[in-house]
Amino acid sequence: MKRDVQTLNRHLAAAQPSATYRVMDRVAERRKQGVSILSLCAGEPDFDTPRHIREAAIAAIESGHTRYTQVAGLRSLREAVAEKFRDENGLSVNWQDTHVSSGGKQVIFNALAATLNEADEVIIPAPYWVSYPEIVQLCGARSRIVPCGAEHSFKLTADALREAIGPHTRWLILNSPSNPTGAVYSREELHALAQVLLEHPQVLILADDIYEHLIFDGRRFYTLAQVEPRLAERTLTMNGVSKAYAMTGWRIGFATGPRWLLQAMEKLQGQQTSGACSISQHAAVAALRGPKDFLDESRQVFERRRNLMVGLLNDTPGLRCAVPQGAFYAFADCAALLGKRSAGGRVLNSDEDVVQALLDEARVAVVPGSAFGLAGYIRIAYAVDDASLKTACIAIRQFCHGVRAL
Ligand code: GLU
Repeated sequence: MKRDVQTLNRHLAAAQPSATYRVMDRVAERRKQGVSILSLCAGEPDFDTPRHIREAAIAAIESGHTRYTQVAGLRSLREAVAEKFRDENGLSVNWQDTHVSSGGKQVIFNALAATLNEADEVIIPAPYWVSYPEIVQLCGARSRIVPCGAEHSFKLTADALREAIGPHTRWLILNSPSNPTGAVYSREELHALAQVLLEHPQVLILADDIYEHLIFDGRRFYTLAQVEPRLAERTLTMNGVSKAYAMTGWRIGFATGPRWLLQAMEKLQGQQTSGACSISQHAAVAALRGPKDFLDESRQVFERRRNLMVGLLNDTPGLRCAVPQGAFYAFADCAALLGKRSAGGRVLNSDEDVVQALLDEARVAVVPGSAFGLAGYIRIAYAVDDASLKTACIAIRQFCHGVRAL
């Protein structure tokens, strides 16, 4: 049989490109055309990586740390990661119980690719980060999306989890603070989920804690394996330096979990990218071992911006926004704009239309809620300076004022 030379792997062919990158690319294209766009779409801190971390990277280059590292990471970084999990999360972790990858995304990919087979299901509470279902799809398995709407503060309840777990469930993905809603699971909520999970010993849990340090109003952060240590033997607790230390471009993610799983992830990574960038790993050691004032400072900045933004959005006709408890995203309900027409003449039938019209008419870039599994919303990242944030929110408000019935 003749085969088309362009035939793709069927799992890849059925996957979607990253929705966040799609919007970011659209912004870059507009800017190249000379259009000025206020971008509230990218999920990355606008701060520079702290100086002592940059200096550690330069020192690593100057002293010749420019070669391959061990696949699962430098011993010094794995020790720092173990210490972080012990000190900040109360987990019992040795350096051998850790794994370092080129970003959090690779940690997730490694873990799922190492364990999923065709009939397996991954429970993903929605709204979810855009890449979870696509990674599951790339691994040839199925996502079991569990809608968790505003009525449940966008969080998975124990009842909903119990209902979703079936004979094919292999993983549950939990993300707190959440991208895109900023929802944070309390200790009690995690405890309730843990009771259900204890009844199902075949289920693995991925705790994506990448926004751990961005948590507001004096709340405390908890992760599942800390709340229920009996689940530690089947929980992969994942984190990284990207969001906490403004190091998105350095690409360092890490995790702790059961050794059999970490070994499988190492085997996979050894045939794929090898160890993460040696220079970035040295920088990550400096981040984890260095002064921590940056964490508090950036938390305060984001909390201030959150207050500014939520105030402005809730003063905007057609938008409604719950107060996010963490991360740097607001997830605003835009359903009241749908079925109407923008001042520029675009009929707004979906959140995608709202996003496109905001880009064309208000010159503000945000991401449609449907990309995160909940239509009728827009995700607005407040990882820009206060002045730009204010200008963008005012532009959104003006846009919404101009929306009329058909
Ligand atoms: N996680 C960030 C976001 O949601 C960065 C882009 C991505 O990898 O999705 O915007």
